[in-house]
Amino acid sequence: MGEPFLTTENEKNMPLFRARTSIPFARIDDYLDPILTSLVAHNLELRTEPGHYAVVSPFGGTGHLVPRQGRLDIMVEAPSGPPFNRLKHDLTSLIGFVAREEALTIDWTGDTAGSVLPPDLRILTVERVRDVTPGLRRITFSGHDLGRYAVPDQIHCRLIFQAKGAGKPEWPRLDDNGRVVWPGRGQLASRIYTIRRIDADAGWLDIDFVLHAGNGPGIGWVRAAASGDIVGLLGPAAHGPSPAGWYLLAGDETGLPGIARILEGLRPAARGVALIETAGRAEEQMLAHPPGIEIRWLHRDGRAPGSTRLLVEAVRALALPDQREDIFVWCGAEFTAFREFRRYLLNEAGLAAAQCVAFSHWRQGMSEEDIAAAGASSIAP
Ligand SMILES: Cc1cc2nc3c(=O)[nH]c(=O)nc-3n(C[C@H](O)[C@H](O)[C@H](O)COP(=O)(O)OP(=O)(O)OC[C@H]3O[C@@H](n4cnc5c(N)ncnc54)[C@H](O)[C@@H]3O)c2cc1C
Repeated sequence: MGEPFLTTENEKNMPLFRARTSIPFARIDDYLDPILTSLVAHNLELRTEPGHYAVVSPFGGTGHLVPRQGRLDIMVEAPSGPPFNRLKHDLTSLIGFVAREEALTIDWTGDTAGSVLPPDLRILTVERVRDVTPGLRRITFSGHDLGRYAVPDQIHCRLIFQAKGAGKPEWPRLDDNGRVVWPGRGQLASRIYTIRRIDADAGWLDIDFVLHAGNGPGIGWVRAAASGDIVGLLGPAAHGPSPAGWYLLAGDETGLPGIARILEGLRPAARGVALIETAGRAEEQMLAHPPGIEIRWLHRDGRAPGSTRLLVEAVRALALPDQREDIFVWCGAEFTAFREFRRYLLNEAGLAAAQCVAFSHWRQGMSEEDIAAAGASSIAP
């Protein structure tokens, strides 16, 4: 594929695994930006180079993306099997998700490593279960080698649930096509959460789970969780806070763990507002926060989660600083609230997209599998 894929002098001396794919992709021009944004949000470092984009994996290895007329060519290279298959997986799954409507065929040719365990997989054991409020359950997990998860700007993770008393736990592996191979007959359920607190040296972390009224494997596991249960941990991912003169943090109960963790990490002189939507007063928590950040609780008072406009109404009523470029926004909430909130800030309040890190944490009436099947457009801003 020519010049862009030449390796550096250092890389020439390393034993590298290499693979390529050339994806027929009629609408590559429409999808390129969302694909690159998604790769960066999933912890891959993007380097724009003449004629191609290089994405560097935190596990080792680089992917080279070359968009051409009606195709996307990719070459990956990595020093060993686990980062090699992990990079193929990241590219295959994220590009496939962002462009779900295009039903892309992504087949890799080149070196093979056989199926490998994901290099970020850690096994966690439930140590303690307690309810922080009537609607929020905190679970403390213990585990080894958690250092990669103790980073303030990568606070999200994926939990893989094992059935109770499953005997010897089995975990998904990554194959040579970058696909996940699930053990046994069924797929183990997994869901995304926020690491509320972590002490990697002491080997523990806390996750706060919303006790929502929906059905789903996540809530089912959380309701039954007891000391000694096992989960797999993957990640971390996503953007955390950037330095700013004024912070706007916003979310519903699923965003509260992220808001609480960000507040604890801000410098004491930080200023701004946190808007937190909860079911009612009983869901309020004592949050450690810089004195210059005001905490505003917004109560649904009997209305269903995901059914109100509390967050967008509250942000519309705010007097944002005139120096718009000083502002940093973080938001995690139900899809409709997330979308309205972000649109207001970008389209009406004059913020740039880079100032606004916002996530759709869940979507009313859709499970995570429904969202995965529908593709990125179902949670697009
Ligand atoms: C980046 C990120 C960080 C997140 N952090 C956290 C976190 O720290 N704590 C946390 O509890 N959640 C968090 N979430 C949200 C969590 O992943 C979803 O709520 C997930 O859908 C739960 O899976 P489930 O199996 O319980 O429900 P699913 O099987 O996914 O959904 C089943 C049904 O329940 C409904 N539902 C799902 N979540 C909720 C909810 N919160 N309230 C009301 N109805 C709901 C769905 O709309 C669907 O109808 C986060 C999500 C993301 C993307």
